[in-house]
Amino acid sequence: MSIADQLSRVEEEISRACERAGRVRGEVLLVAVSKTKPVSMIAEAIAAGQADFGENKVQELIAKQPEFAGQARFHLIGHLQKNKIRKVLPHCEVVHTLDSTDLALRLDRIAGELGLRARALLQVNISEDDAKYGLAPEEAESVLTSVAPLEQLEVEGLMTIPRFDPDPEATRSAFRALRELRDGLKERTGLALPQLSMGMSHDFSVAIEEGATIVRVGSAIFGERG
Ligand SMILES: *Cc1c(COP(=O)(O)O)cnc(C)c1O
Repeated sequence: MSIADQLSRVEEEISRACERAGRVRGEVLLVAVSKTKPVSMIAEAIAAGQADFGENKVQELIAKQPEFAGQARFHLIGHLQKNKIRKVLPHCEVVHTLDSTDLALRLDRIAGELGLRARALLQVNISEDDAKYGLAPEEAESVLTSVAPLEQLEVEGLMTIPRFDPDPEATRSAFRALRELRDGLKERTGLALPQLSMGMSHDFSVAIEEGATIVRVGSAIFGERG
């Protein structure tokens, strides 16, 4: 199947999940995860109408983005090291992986120096998985309140990568937990926190039913990675 065909299948599945959940399609942003895939495949997806792409490595993101300036937006969905902030910020739409107050302070400072505003999501390790990056759920509130006053950094919500389970229903409770965490944080901090980045190729429908506003879908669009 072509990338255009795969994209329209994913689009249909997104629309059906929105319908089931009583949501409108416009509430969910599809980020096509193009990591490890060549720019020719990104160009095909753009030709089919896709505008948002996700990369997990800074080096790869900054190599690909300039080829599509003005046509596409690139999201950083992998871990961000402090010494790469300056390089990546001008090329990156949203950093999905903010996981410490220190990183937030540096993002804010460097965004100011570059004359940009940085957009980010707090990565929460909702399954409390030792192997993953991300804040423990109980750490999220103190980080949010300490970064809220920063002028050049906008924290727009939460992101999670739950523990992998081939059965999407098994991940439903983790998606729900992230939404409930966000709802509680919103209430206690008064921050807007509109975004929930959750759901990948095999479980984005369940994530949408549980409130995802951004889904990150790679292999279902571009095929398996080698
Ligand atoms: C690779 C990746 C995805 C996409 O995974 P697929 O299973 O290919 O859809 C989503 N989110 C993150 C953080 C990733 O690293």
